[in-house]
Amino acid sequence: MIKDNLLEIEKRIEKACEESGRKREDVTLIAVSKTKPVEMIKEVYDLGIRDFGENRVQELLEKYDRLPGDIRWHLIGHLQTNKVKYIIDKVYMIHSVDSLRLAKEISKEAVKKNVTVPILIEVNMAGEESKFGVSEEEALPLITEAAKLEGITVRGLMTVAPYVEDESENSPIFCKMKQLSVDITQKNIDNVSMDCLSMGMSGDYYAAIKEGADYVRIGTSLFGERVYK
Ligand SMILES: *Cc1c(COP(=O)(O)O)cnc(C)c1O
Repeated sequence: MIKDNLLEIEKRIEKACEESGRKREDVTLIAVSKTKPVEMIKEVYDLGIRDFGENRVQELLEKYDRLPGDIRWHLIGHLQTNKVKYIIDKVYMIHSVDSLRLAKEISKEAVKKNVTVPILIEVNMAGEESKFGVSEEEALPLITEAAKLEGITVRGLMTVAPYVEDESENSPIFCKMKQLSVDITQKNIDNVSMDCLSMGMSGDYYAAIKEGADYVRIGTSLFGERVYK
C-alpha cells in the first residue's frame, strides 16, 4: 500500500515538474512520519526515500536511534528553545524558525557541538491566527539578524498553507512565498542562500511545486491518515 502511494506521489511530482518546466531532481520529497511507527518508516526508507520529517523532538529522538544513520531528519514543527539542545546535532535542517530568540538558541547549541545547522524561516503567509510563523513583513528583518549568528545558515523559507478543498486556492500563497524568497535573495545578505523553499503538503503539493517549492512535506498521502492517541 505504501509502495503504491509513493508511486502515485512520484507520478504527480513528476507531472508538476514537467508542467512548470522544472527538473524532477530539483524537488525533494520529505516523508512526514510523525505518529507513524519505525517499521513503516523503514518500509519507505527501503523504497529509496532518505528525507523524513518529524514535528516533535521526543519522537524524533526515539526514531533517530532506531533507524539508519543516513536518514536526513527534518524538524518541521514548532520548536521550543529548551529542546534545541537535544536535536541540534541530529537534524539535517530546521524548517520552523519563527523568532530571533529561537535562532539564537540554535546558534548557541550549534557552536557548542561544533556543527552548522541549516535553518528555514517559517512564514505565516496567509495570516492565519492558529498558525506559527512570522508575517511576510517580519521575514527580512528576522533573516538579517539571524544571518549574523554563528553555527547556522539561513537557507530559505517554509510555510504551512491553509487547509483548502481545491489546492489551486493556495497557488497565490505559494506564489507570494516564491516572490518573497526571490526578493530576499536580491538583498545578497552574507550567510543567506535562499535556495530552499519548503511548501506543499498532501493536499496541495502539486500546486506548490508549480509555484516553485524545493521541498514538499507529505504525510497522509504516503503513510495514510494519522491516529492521535
Ligand atoms: C504534519 C505536517 C505535514 C504533513 O501533512 P500531511 O497533510 O499529512 O501531508 C507537513 N508539514 C508540517 C509542518 C506538518 O506538521
